[in-house]
Amino acid sequence: MDRAEELRQVRQALSDYLHIHGYRSTPERFALLEAIYMTDGIFNPEKLLADMEARKTLRVCRATVYNNLGLFEDAGLVRKLMLNGESGYEKLWHNQFGIRLVCTSCGKVTECGDEKVRHQIEDMKKKRFTMTGWSLNLYGLCSKCQAAFKRKQKKLLDKTQK
Ligand SMILES: [Zn+2]
Repeated sequence: MDRAEELRQVRQALSDYLHIHGYRSTPERFALLEAIYMTDGIFNPEKLLADMEARKTLRVCRATVYNNLGLFEDAGLVRKLMLNGESGYEKLWHNQFGIRLVCTSCGKVTECGDEKVRHQIEDMKKKRFTMTGWSLNLYGLCSKCQAAFKRKQKKLLDKTQK
């Protein structure tokens, strides 16, 4: 799915959600949703505000961003996540980058797109459930932290041998 089509679909989903729940359909909400769907990967409200500022889209205040992220979460359009004690958000609509390698030491997040896994999740039978997105976190150590860990280990070993 290309970005324009994705944008069209999420705008429609938000519009439906607002209508069903009796919320007002404001230009700020749609500008915010668009800014989210123009970014890749994990974001936080501050990054979102900076992105919108840089792109000179509709001005929204900090409170609007925070309030609407909660609303988008309820609408199934974004998901809040905690990675190494820090919170962030990711878009959820047909999330195309669902597989993530998370370093538990430095917090580095690498996205990886394994087609086989992706297809398996998409083909998986989901009883009485309509999937709107998915994400999968794999935890471990990045190569840098792994190397640092080995160096520390070696140092300790050298010490005990002396
Ligand atoms: Zn690391």
